This record gives sequence, structure tokens and C-alpha cells, in this order.
Amino acid sequence: MADTTFAYAPAPESRAVVSLRPAYGLFIDGAFTPPTERLITTVNPADEEPLAEVSVADEGDVDRAVTAARRAFERVWSPMPPAERGKYLFRISRIIQERARELAVLESLDNGKPIKESRDVDIPLAAAHFFYYAGWADKLAHAGFGAAPRPLGVAAQVIPWNFPLLMLAWKIAPALATGNTVVLKPAETTPLTALLFAEICQQAELPPGVVNIVTGAADTGRALIAHPGTDKVAFTGSTEVGREIARTVAGTRKKLTLELGGKGANIVYDDAPLDQAVEGIVNGIFFNQGHVCCAGSRLLVQESIAEEVLHRLKERVSRLRLGDPLDKNTDIGAINSAEQLARIRALAQTGRDEGSQDWAPDCELPAHGYWFAPTIFTGVTQAHRIAREEIFGPVLSVLTFRTPDEAVEKANNTPYGLSAGVWTEKGSRMLWTAGRLRAGVVWSNTFNKFDPTSPFGGYRESGYGREGGRHGLEAYLDV
Ligand code: NAD
Repeated sequence: MADTTFAYAPAPESRAVVSLRPAYGLFIDGAFTPPTERLITTVNPADEEPLAEVSVADEGDVDRAVTAARRAFERVWSPMPPAERGKYLFRISRIIQERARELAVLESLDNGKPIKESRDVDIPLAAAHFFYYAGWADKLAHAGFGAAPRPLGVAAQVIPWNFPLLMLAWKIAPALATGNTVVLKPAETTPLTALLFAEICQQAELPPGVVNIVTGAADTGRALIAHPGTDKVAFTGSTEVGREIARTVAGTRKKLTLELGGKGANIVYDDAPLDQAVEGIVNGIFFNQGHVCCAGSRLLVQESIAEEVLHRLKERVSRLRLGDPLDKNTDIGAINSAEQLARIRALAQTGRDEGSQDWAPDCELPAHGYWFAPTIFTGVTQAHRIAREEIFGPVLSVLTFRTPDEAVEKANNTPYGLSAGVWTEKGSRMLWTAGRLRAGVVWSNTFNKFDPTSPFGGYRESGYGREGGRHGLEAYLDV
């Protein structure tokens, strides 16, 4: 970006490894249907070029998918010996690893995220999730949910666009390991890795109907959530849609988990190792363009070191490279859609209007595609919208505090409760702080660390239920 003394030569990853169909059907009962009459185009957010057309599933399609899932649940998947089910999950995990490059390039094309993130984070973690839950399949009696925990049946799963394949893995792996079958709807702007995953299910010879993928937008999601033939609803997305889903599911016998938005606080005490903290702040808010539900979007820095931290932070952010997501040197890719870019711009404008000062490095944005420079707001108060609302973009709000009590009070002053970070040299201070933070995940001297073995989830407006780890099994078991 701003650094002109040392320029990197372009290092683009080849997209030849990906072969796209011009139009995709739905994946129902182990096979792709012909493309539906209504199609939506998914575009590359880095240059607005259309990538492929994708079917829009209507109520009839959703019904066929749920029927196939029910049949597979009753006849094949739930009667199957658990160790056999586990083998399929291990096989899927292995195929994801084998096709990792193809999946990573496709994810970056469809989502806009830097290839180094899809290659090193999204895809390996997706494979790890299947691998981890494969191991649980024949050990459920020892998971702490009774001697013979039973699956629920058919799971309806709706996921967002920020980590398309990873969110799919978070949903499908525990569901299958526990003996359920699924109908999953990916986000309308990032359906392509889910459709490639359907091909992987075929390659793994997963019995037809165990996994069904229906594409489309909100109406398809609504039809899936409202379908009376499912036993479980799992949703990851915005709090607003989560509320609507909670209303739809209320009064039914369906089990529900909601993974919603967040406004995570990243607390930096004056004894923190500053260089590491700056790396953690950058990772917390600029990883995946800030399209991260658990992003550290509110920096709470102790007043005595605020100036020094900001100085180092700006230096570091000036060295981030924004541009072609397929370039291996890119740190910040494209914003996923025009709508999301408009939302980020509008919220950033409220920051200026309400009196905060914004800073962004001197960086040239590509002429085509959806781009937003990494931005830091100072002079932010707790009343400002940029300190309260989820921006879901590369925008950091900086607030200061004087005492640990004030840090905790400010961190908890949010309707959300998903994540937080604490940077300090002292273990006692870290534990004192973590114990008082109302957040589902608290990282210490690190940020945005994910592992299939650890549970993830929120409180209050960030939703309920846990995904990942042993806890993640519970959502799919009749306990
Ligand atoms: P969104 O809620 O608009 O959409 C999410 C999914 O729901 C998409 O597949 C969409 O098509 C579908 N959908 C939209 N309206 C629907 C409706 N009325 N009924 C059923 N389905 C519907 O969210 P988004 O903009 O795609 O994703 C961003 C949000 O997701 C952010 O708020 C972020 O914090 C949240 N998120 C949370 C987690 C978590 O684990 N807590 C993880 C990733 C993203």
C-alpha cells in the first residue's frame, strides 16, 4: 500500500485449478437437478465479473430436499453403525485436504478474501472440523450426554457469506457425526464452495440424501426454516434475521441454535507486549476484511499507552497490502458485495457525523470491484453508533480506559456478547478480566484463534448454543 520503498512483484495464484459450470442446479438426494427457472448470478467481488449462475430453490424444491433428507435419515444414516458414519466423515475430510487448492481459489474468487487466508485458515479448518467430528461418531456414549444419545433427525441449516466453506463445516460435520441428515442453504453471494462440497459428497460416495444443498436468497432460507418436516434449525447470520427465525421456530418442537453478530472488545493494558498487541489488533479487525462476527472491532486501550499504541498501529496498517485476493501477498481483499460495501460506508459516515476522526493509510483502491480501505476511528465515545453497531468491515473504533474496572464496564456495554481479547503480561489480571467479561469467547494475548475442539458461541444478541468441541454435539442430539 503506502510503502513505496519496497514493492512486491505480483504473485497471483492460478485460477486454472477451478472449473466452473455456467449454471448450477440444486443438490438433492445425491444428484444435481437441472438449473431452476429462476437463477441468480454470483460475481467476483474483486472485479464484478460474473462467475456462474446459481439456482433459486422455491418451496417445492425445499420440500423435495427435506423429503430426501428424511428418507436418508430413516433408511440409511441413523441405522448405520456409528463407526461406519465416522469413515464417511474421515473420507470427506481427506478429500477436502486433497482438493484444498481448488477450494481455496474458489473461495477467494467468490468471497473476495485473500488467498493466503482461504488457503491457510478457511480450508484447513474446514477439513479439521470434519476430521475432529469423525472421531466423535463412534464415541457419543462417552460425550457426557447419556449412555445412548439419539440424533434429532433432519437439520435445516442456513449460513452466511463470510466463511462459506468453514461455516458449512461447522454445521454439517457435527450433524452427520451424530447421525442426522441435513439440508443446507449457503449465502446467495457465496454459494460456489458449497456446490463444490456437494461434488465432494458424491466423490466420498456419501449415501444420497444425507447432505442436500439448496441455493437461493432470503425466501429460500425462509422456506427451509419454516418447513414442518425438519427437527433442528441451525442459523449463522445477522441478529435481525436470527430474531425472525426465533419467532418462526417458537412453538414448534424444533431445536434451535443461533450464531449471530458481535461487537467484540479488544482490551490492551499498559503492561501488554505492544508489538504483539498491535499484531493482535490488526488480526482482530482486518482479518477477512473485518467480515468476522467475533472481530475485535472495539479497541479499548489504557490511556497511558494509547498514543504509543496508535502510533505503532498506524505504522503497521500502512504496511498492509490491499488488492487482488488471488495474490499471495495480499493482506486485505475485497468487500463481499455492493450491499455490504454500502452498509460499511454508511456506518463509517455516521462516525464522522457524530464527531469521531477517521484515519486510513494512503492506499489506492482498484477501479472495479468492492473495496474499503482499513480505517481507524479515534475520538469515539460509547454513545457513537460505530461503537455500538456491528460494522462487519475493516473499521476499528478506538476507545480508552484508565482502570481495569472501567475497561470491563466499557467492554460489557454492548447488546452483544460473542468475543473479547485481553492483552496483558500478568496472568492474574487476564483471569480477573476474563471472569468479568460477558462474552462467549475470551482470547488472551491472541485473537481470532479457532480450533474444532473448542466451543464457540455467544450470549444475548449474539445468539445461543455452541458450535465446536464436545459442546457442539449437544445441539444435534436428543439429550
Ligand atoms: P444474513 O442474516 O443477512 O444472512 C445469513 C443467511 O441467512 C444467508 O444465507 C441469507 O440468505 C439467509 N437469510 C436472509 N434472510 C433470511 C430469512 N428471513 N430467513 C431465513 N434465512 C434468511 O447475514 P449475512 O449478512 O449474510 O452475514 C453477516 C452476519 O452474520 C453478521 O451479523 C455476522 O456477525 C453474522 N455471523 C455470525 C457468526 C457467528 O458464529 N456468531 C459467524 C459468521 C457470521
